[in-house]
Amino acid sequence: MTETKIVEPGGVIGVIGGGQLGRMLALAAAPLGLKTHIFTPEKNSPASQIASSTSIGSYKDENALDQFANQVDVVTYEFENVPAETVTILQKLGATVAPGERALATAQDRLVEKQFINSIGAGTALFHAVEDIQSLEDGLKRIGRPAILKTRRLGYDGKGQTTIGADNADLALTWEEAKKTAWDEIGAQPSILEGFVDFTMEISVIGARGRNGEVKCYEPPRNVHQGGILRQSIVPSKAPQNAIDEAMSITAKMLEELDYVGVIGVEFFVPKSGGVLVNEFAPRVHNSGHWTMDACAISQFEQHIRAVAGWPLGDPVRHSDCVLENLIGDEIENWRTLSREKNACIHLYGKTEARDGRKMGHVTSITPQF
Ligand code: AMP
Repeated sequence: MTETKIVEPGGVIGVIGGGQLGRMLALAAAPLGLKTHIFTPEKNSPASQIASSTSIGSYKDENALDQFANQVDVVTYEFENVPAETVTILQKLGATVAPGERALATAQDRLVEKQFINSIGAGTALFHAVEDIQSLEDGLKRIGRPAILKTRRLGYDGKGQTTIGADNADLALTWEEAKKTAWDEIGAQPSILEGFVDFTMEISVIGARGRNGEVKCYEPPRNVHQGGILRQSIVPSKAPQNAIDEAMSITAKMLEELDYVGVIGVEFFVPKSGGVLVNEFAPRVHNSGHWTMDACAISQFEQHIRAVAGWPLGDPVRHSDCVLENLIGDEIENWRTLSREKNACIHLYGKTEARDGRKMGHVTSITPQF
C-alpha cells in the first residue's frame, strides 16, 4: 500500500465486493490504465470475471485482508453492507479506504441515516425508532397509518420491510394481531417506523466528491420501483426544477458533511406537497446511475474511479435522453430480442443463476440530443 493519494496509470484499485457494481467499476478503470483487484468470498463473481485479480476470503479474515491491502493503492467498496470491522482492519493496516468509515456507518443504520439527514437541514419521512411492540404502538400513534416498518440494518431492494395499512379489516386481524404480525415479519429486530410519503415521483442524485473537495452531480433520473426493486430510471425526469435543484444541493451538502470521496447515490421522494424528502443514500455507485454509462461521456463508474484515485472529476453532462430498464430474474432471457433493437445498449452481469428478483443485467435505450 503506497501513501500517495493519486493512483497513476498502472496502479491498482482494490474493491471490496464482487457483484455487478464491482464488475462495472473494473470495466471503467481499464481505459484509465488502472487495474482492479476484487476482494470477495465468492468464487467466479461477476466482478472477478473482469478484474485484473481477485482475492477470495471472508470479510473478517485479517490475513487475507492484509495480503489484499499490500497489493492495492487504494480501497473502495461496491456494497454498503461491508462489515464495519473490515474497514477498521484495512485502516489499521494503513490502507486508504474511500468513501470513509463515517459514510458507511451512517448508511448502514436507517435511524442514524435519517438523523444525519435531518441534522443537515434536509427533510425525511416522519420516523420513530422501534425496539418492541410498545414502541411500535407509540410510533403508530405519533405517525399515523399507513406506515412502513423497516429493519434498521441490512435491508435492500424492499427486503426487511412491511407496510402497516390504513386499516387491518381486510386481513381479518385484530389491531393487536396486526402489530404483532408486522413486528414478526421484520424478524422482531431494531427497526424504524416511517410515515407513508404521498409522492408524485421518486428521483435520485448520483453525486461525486473528489479528494480535493470538488463536487459534481448528475442530473437526477425519475425512478420507477416495483415490489421495492428498481425497475426503470428515466432522464429527463420531468421533475419540477426546484425539486431537482434542492435534491442536488442536499446531495452536495451530504458529500461535504461526510468528508466523502467517491460516488454516492441519494434517493428522494418528490411529495405531492412540494419540495423533496430524502429516502436513503448508498455510499457507492448506484443502480439508478447505470444510464450514465451510455448517456454521458463520463459514467458514474469512471467518476468513482477518478475520485478514489485522486484524479479530477469528469463533467457529468448528459448527451442523450435515456431510459434504463433492469433485467430482473428470467427477464435476462429477452437478450436476443433486445439485441435486435436500435439504440439499446445491453449490459449483462455474468450471473449464471437467474433467481427471482435478482438483478441479472440492464438495458438502456438512448436518444441522442444533438
Ligand atoms: P427502500 O428500501 O427504503 O428504498 O424502499 C424501497 C421503495 O419502497 C422506495 O423506493 C419507495 O418506492 C417505497 N417506499 C419506501 N419507503 C417509503 C415511504 N416512507 N413512503 C412511501 N414509499 C416508500
